[in-house]
Amino acid sequence: MSFSALGLSDQIVRAVTARGYTKPTPIQSQAIPVVLSGQDLLAGAQTGTGKTAGFTLPILHLLSNKVVKRSPTGKIPIRALILTPTRELAAQVEESVRMYGRHLPLQSMVIYGGVNINPQINRLRGGVEILVATPGRLLDHVQQGRLDLSKVEILVLDEADRMLDMGFIRDIRKILALLPKQRQNLLFSATFSNEIKSFASTLLNQPVLVEVASQNATSDLVTQRIFPVDRDRKRDLLTHLIKTHNWYQVLVFTRTKHGADRLVKQLHQDDIVAMAIHGNKSQAARTRALGKFKDGSLQVLVATDIAARGLDISELPHVVNYELPNVPEDYVHRIGRTGRAGSVGEAISLVCVDERKFLSDIEKLIKRSLPQEIIEGFEPDPRAKPEPIQVGRQAKHQPRRGQRDNAIAKPSSPSPSKSPAKPQRRQSVAIAHS
Ligand code: AMP
Repeated sequence: MSFSALGLSDQIVRAVTARGYTKPTPIQSQAIPVVLSGQDLLAGAQTGTGKTAGFTLPILHLLSNKVVKRSPTGKIPIRALILTPTRELAAQVEESVRMYGRHLPLQSMVIYGGVNINPQINRLRGGVEILVATPGRLLDHVQQGRLDLSKVEILVLDEADRMLDMGFIRDIRKILALLPKQRQNLLFSATFSNEIKSFASTLLNQPVLVEVASQNATSDLVTQRIFPVDRDRKRDLLTHLIKTHNWYQVLVFTRTKHGADRLVKQLHQDDIVAMAIHGNKSQAARTRALGKFKDGSLQVLVATDIAARGLDISELPHVVNYELPNVPEDYVHRIGRTGRAGSVGEAISLVCVDERKFLSDIEKLIKRSLPQEIIEGFEPDPRAKPEPIQVGRQAKHQPRRGQRDNAIAKPSSPSPSKSPAKPQRRQSVAIAHS
């Protein structure tokens, strides 16, 4: 199957070929024909599957095939609205729109919070066909009367599970109320909780359901290993691993923002170049750190779960869970940063006695036990007793943006995520397989 066989125009196929893609990924070969046919879509796909091109390519095709009238003021209307949970994902999606649409006369732009609103206002004045946005900043523009969403033909909710999880549901409902009733809706989600299913049923009109990987599956391309270690030896072990294996482009996860900052300082003391990316960093600092990490000038990027969502760093070789996530699904998202789109990666977790419950929750969720390996010189003390630990985000019914705090979890109590969400079996998963 080729991109042109999917019915995409030559201009789009040329842009995709120049990007180096030779054939569509499974989500692309399933989703693209559905979107081109004008139907609503409910897609189960995690990041790393090529889902972004799965919706951007057919949207570009549809919009460029149909000429629309400008408003009496000569302004181009917003015809496609793509909502994402995070700024980084919004930026990446819009970058993809521009890249794939480079031979087409369509205008796109991204709007998100944390940066000056004025350049966005100026840019919007000129008119754009494709708008990629995070919900909060989009509503800021709406409230200032600067956005007309009444001509939107296609709506995309990307990483919808994350959006609900982050408390965006009310913002999304407000945005939906501003859209014309007659439109095409595409919903992408890595997981299908009951909440997502019921939300999808209110939004989508007889959607075609496609999915590529089973929920909560971890990629076979990722080698996963557990290194048991004492809590106060984790930092030394991390430095040891990075230095002895000469690791570059290491994405390290901590549960909390303070933990991320602390680790960066410690790594500097060990002469390892590291930067942190988390919710307390300005957007400029986050963009700078990500840029350096992508171009290879930054050896280690330390991230919290929320900041890391949607990061697209191609062929990332190493992901390290310096601390295991208290929300087991976050483990799947974390290690999804490596072994992406066909490349092989390694995910290792430094696990101390306090985190045993988190580990067993994760193993239950991914339905496999992870191989453990003790590193010489870092053998954990068999008499060590678990201690309460700081946890990061909570799984469900958590406070809205900016209100998350770092709760303390008792080691012996069930994980604060409650029991891991039971994988939902999808019933009528259908349509063409590639
Ligand atoms: P996504 O799931 O959209 O975040 O995409 C994950 C990665 O796969 C990105 O780095 C894309 O550039 C890459 N990608 C998307 N489509 C293809 C394709 N057809 N062939 C190879 N790589 C792709």
